[in-house]
Amino acid sequence: MSNNVNSAGESLEHGRPIVIRNGIVITMDDQHRVLKNSDVLVVGGVIKEIGTKLGAPEGALSIDASGGIIMPGMIDTHRHMWQTAMRGYGADWSLSQYFVWYYLQHGKNFRPEDIYAGNLLSGIEAIDAGVTTSVDWSHGLSSTQHADAAVDALEAVPGRFVLAYGNIQAAPWEWSVAPEFKEFYSRRFSANNDMLGFQMAFDVLGDEAFPEKPAFDVAKELGVPVTTHAGVFGVTGDNSIRLMHDHDCMGPDTVFVHCSTLSDDSYHRIAASGGSASVSTESEQSAGQGYPSSWILRQYDIPISLSHDTSVWWSADFFTAMRATAGSDRSRQHFESQLKGEQVINLDVRCEEVIHWATRGGAKALGLEDKIGSIEVGKRADVVLVKNDNSPAMFPIINPYGHVVMQAQRADVDTVVIDGNIVKHEHKLVGIDLGAARTATEKTVSFLADTIGEEAWVSGMNPELTERQINENPYKYVK
Ligand SMILES: [Zn+2]
Repeated sequence: MSNNVNSAGESLEHGRPIVIRNGIVITMDDQHRVLKNSDVLVVGGVIKEIGTKLGAPEGALSIDASGGIIMPGMIDTHRHMWQTAMRGYGADWSLSQYFVWYYLQHGKNFRPEDIYAGNLLSGIEAIDAGVTTSVDWSHGLSSTQHADAAVDALEAVPGRFVLAYGNIQAAPWEWSVAPEFKEFYSRRFSANNDMLGFQMAFDVLGDEAFPEKPAFDVAKELGVPVTTHAGVFGVTGDNSIRLMHDHDCMGPDTVFVHCSTLSDDSYHRIAASGGSASVSTESEQSAGQGYPSSWILRQYDIPISLSHDTSVWWSADFFTAMRATAGSDRSRQHFESQLKGEQVINLDVRCEEVIHWATRGGAKALGLEDKIGSIEVGKRADVVLVKNDNSPAMFPIINPYGHVVMQAQRADVDTVVIDGNIVKHEHKLVGIDLGAARTATEKTVSFLADTIGEEAWVSGMNPELTERQINENPYKYVK
């Protein structure tokens, strides 16, 4: 492909050693060291050395990181990638409008090629934004042909992915026990593949008979983690957590998505199990699962990772995810404090911790902390260079953590290295066929629009607006 060389004509072929020089390195190692004017050497897919004026092997590509920040690749633990072809369609939706459109009305219209289109576009978008690992919370898999299409797309993108298999068109105790599901799993997945992991994705609705139990049994039998939407106002709540806990269906590898509207008891149960929470702040703020939960998860010492949920509403810019999470956490701290008539002097959450959630937190949630999530010698090389010499917002860099969370955006991602391979450089994707993603997406959009019909298409995008009530004003101000 023509974009496999940089502006100096140097090859960006995969497998080549890379040395990234003279950047500010946010390591996110155990000491959270931040190193100035430092180099990161990548050889054979692994971070080989970190330091100053490093020697590099013959043929290594040298990347100038001066004026930029070298950080670990970000990790998104919950994204419905299959919905990406419908980008922005539901920007004005509430959660119930989303449920009606996808779960009840139109989700069943998605064909395998539509799952493929969404996943392909979302996978490319993720690596472009510096998100090197994404969990594809794929609950549109109404057949294993759909699932094969999902995996085909993930394998067509040089990123790290986890397929979280789900199917909103059938109950979890139905699809998970079907022989073709297990056949699909054993055919497409192996335990040793760091680039493509597997989870089972389904929700527990709180029925005392706990009908979801057979799905958990399948997860145990296959030895795969479960990810579940938990603490979603009006949908999943404390009963779901209690049932999972009482039936021994949670553990350190369980990911609880949102975790917003839960009682003390539920948070204690999750914390005791070692499970983690995936916070999708923009989603919770806009859709209504409950207040974004990082502020309360902290009080129970529940590990946190971040996620973007779906591009049918929001962007997949993980800098925005971090910024929104810092803001919502602080907003709640001020709110709780002001209810007591007190002013906040010291903020509880710092940008450093939010970056931890976006990197190490994701690695921990996925059981990959020994492989990814930080820039440390011996780890797989998932590395992002945030640098943009053309942007007035990218200098001066005085506070690296603060700069990443409060100033940077995905257009500032200069270089992305995944498993030691360059997938983006000089702000351009490398070896990616964006045209193929565009064509697949256009076909899906026109198919869905034709199937749904114009009237439903337009009304689905434009929910009813109730008349705004303006408060009566006792004053008349005449000058
Ligand atoms: Zn979700």
